[in-house]
Amino acid sequence: MAAADKVEVRSLLLNELQEELHKFGKPSYRAGQIAEWLYKKRVKSFDEMTNLSRELRAQLANQFAFGKMDIVRVLGSHDTTRKFLFRLSDGNLIESVLIPASPALYGGSSDRRTICVSTQVGCAYGCKFCASGLEGFSRNLGPNEIIDQIIAIEGESGEKIDNIVFMGMGEPLANFKNVMRAIRIINASWGLGIGARHITVSTSGLAPQIKKLADEPLQIRLAISLHAATDEVRNQIMPINRKYNIETLLSACDYYAGHKKQRLTFEYILIGGVNDADVQAHLLARHARRLSAKVNLIPYNTVEDLDWSRPSRNRQEKFLSILRGHKIPATLRREKGHDIDAACGQLRLQTKREVGGQLRLQTKREVGAGVV
Ligand code: SAH
Ligand code: SF4
Repeated sequence: MAAADKVEVRSLLLNELQEELHKFGKPSYRAGQIAEWLYKKRVKSFDEMTNLSRELRAQLANQFAFGKMDIVRVLGSHDTTRKFLFRLSDGNLIESVLIPASPALYGGSSDRRTICVSTQVGCAYGCKFCASGLEGFSRNLGPNEIIDQIIAIEGESGEKIDNIVFMGMGEPLANFKNVMRAIRIINASWGLGIGARHITVSTSGLAPQIKKLADEPLQIRLAISLHAATDEVRNQIMPINRKYNIETLLSACDYYAGHKKQRLTFEYILIGGVNDADVQAHLLARHARRLSAKVNLIPYNTVEDLDWSRPSRNRQEKFLSILRGHKIPATLRREKGHDIDAACGQLRLQTKREVGGQLRLQTKREVGAGVV
């Protein structure tokens, strides 16, 4: 079969793999063996699946693709946040972030190791403060490319990951089918075996897809990138607000909250002089109360070429104290080393610029925040 027509083996659910094997006249339990090689032993080719016959391995290689993803750059050191830049099989670049154990942000216990995964190459939503949207949208990631970020980082770091956040490059709900398929594989006991409550999807506010997600049976967590409490401010920084304004978004969230047991989280980047006024905090508290949501305040990470900045520490604390005054559960990220902790999309952008927009990258490994 021509390579381009082949289905990626790590994009299939177990029952689909079983059906494919039946076509070769093979029993169902072979699918379980293959899943074990893929997700437990983490082999890189069909040839390594030594409890399958040579003939079956050849049939599988003929039928399915087994894509690979190279790590082209690593930034950060062992006990800090590490960023990984990947080159996909078509040459596109994406990035993921490994966050070491730290106080719970999304409801997990405090000793969880988290990976922030990308779901698209670029992003079509063009939020004014975000590096991922700066160069527009290229394509959706396949389920295998989402899962491979986790497998590759576990392999490189030697760490067992127990928390996944869909907060890397791209808008997960705009790649709904592939993201849901990846989540099923991440969650399945035959797959990566990570509990649904330890998987968080973040969205800039695609109201219809939020409702669709509410109708899915999995109890995953949802974070909403709100970033402003009024349409006036949100329109300035998030073009999607002109399509789904705050009321439309919040009523989709009402629907979601009515269908799920978990609390929603509102992500709120604090941008100096833009969305950090007291009045925004009071209104944000009102929205959070309506949905019994938690608020996660994130001081803005500066992005090269963009003029936005983070407010003073005092302003950040004042904003937090207003929310707390309204009895809203709220956290303020006070991370160390925010140079490297910079939001997703930035490493890719920086790297593309360094190589003059071309993707001829040497494989290199860099340790320490000051390298680039
Ligand atoms: N597209 C989805 C998920 C990816 S963005 C979404 O927007 O929710 C993940 C989070 O990083 C979002 O809350 C986004 O607003 C935030 N973010 C983007 N640029 C940032 C920056 N420069 N500093 C801090 N957070 C940023
Ligand atoms: Fe896209 Fe999210 Fe960045 Fe907005 S914040 S441009 S939706 S990745």
